[in-house]
Amino acid sequence: MDISVVVPLYNEAESLPPLHEWITRVMGEHGFSYEIIFVSDGSTDASWDVIEQLSATDTHVRGIKFRRNYGKSPALFCGFRAATGDVVITMDADLQDSPDEIPELYRMIREDGYDLVSGYKQKRYDPLSKTIPTKLFNATARRVSGIKNLHDFNCGLKAYRQDVVKNIEVYGEMHRYIPYLAKNAGFDKIGEKVVHHQARKYGKTKFGGLNRFFNGYLDLLSLWFLNSFGLKPMHVFGFLGTLMFIIGLLAVMVVGGIKLVAICKGVSAPLVASSPYFYIALTMMILGTQLFVAGFLGELISRNAAGRNDYQIEKQL
Ligand code: UDP
Ligand code: MG
Repeated sequence: MDISVVVPLYNEAESLPPLHEWITRVMGEHGFSYEIIFVSDGSTDASWDVIEQLSATDTHVRGIKFRRNYGKSPALFCGFRAATGDVVITMDADLQDSPDEIPELYRMIREDGYDLVSGYKQKRYDPLSKTIPTKLFNATARRVSGIKNLHDFNCGLKAYRQDVVKNIEVYGEMHRYIPYLAKNAGFDKIGEKVVHHQARKYGKTKFGGLNRFFNGYLDLLSLWFLNSFGLKPMHVFGFLGTLMFIIGLLAVMVVGGIKLVAICKGVSAPLVASSPYFYIALTMMILGTQLFVAGFLGELISRNAAGRNDYQIEKQL
């Protein structure tokens, strides 16, 4: 099969029939063999009924129904697991992404050799409260991930080689960082295509709140840490711990030195607790030990983690 279109959706009943019609038209015009996988993420409106009706009349339509709302990432994860197409395309259900982009995305994966092509909504039809923070977010994500050529990490419209979606785990709210997940898994031919974007016609946005930026940054931090030190936590904690310990040791030497000098001179030595170096020594040594303990615990955990030997093997003979 050429293409699997994966559509995560949460309460988008009105948009589904026009979206289905549009995808079907584009696929027909280009003669692709395809499937559309609608993943209803615990929708409470008529979305699932609509999906059932669509799949009753069109064998290309498949559906997955979550019992409750888990989020966009879990919806994508399950869609990816079910996908069988050579190229997997994800798009939002709200008609903001245009299925007309599919043929070119498909071509870029098949002919230009990209692992992943992300849409870039150069001209966005979203409120300013969304677009401005997004710029900041993307700049940070570019820096941390080292994927310098992406302007729009979180675009819902993306195309993947099947290998990619079968080898990444989109969990929590990590759908914002799929290109980074892909890169960490070794898929580094990541491209971008400017795509048309439209204002939302039906329903309302599910990602309006401000806390998503805070959470987004924390997720980015976790990903960076996991990728850099996840398999060797002692390298970071041990380094910091040693650093603290050395500073502490130097401070102890200063405290001891002051005492020694006073004794040699035969004057009464000041109390160690009256020297600021005493407190520096105390804090640094305690912190250093704590960091070491954190490192050892991290090592113990990562030694026992179920996925510790899940390496990405591309080919084997
Ligand atoms: N979505 C989902 N589960 C959720 C929230 C959103 O599957 O918990 C879907 C939603 O139905 C849409 C897509 O994710 O198809 C993108 O959401 P939305 O359009 O609200 O985000 P925006 O375009 O405003 O960033
Ligand atoms: Mg949208």
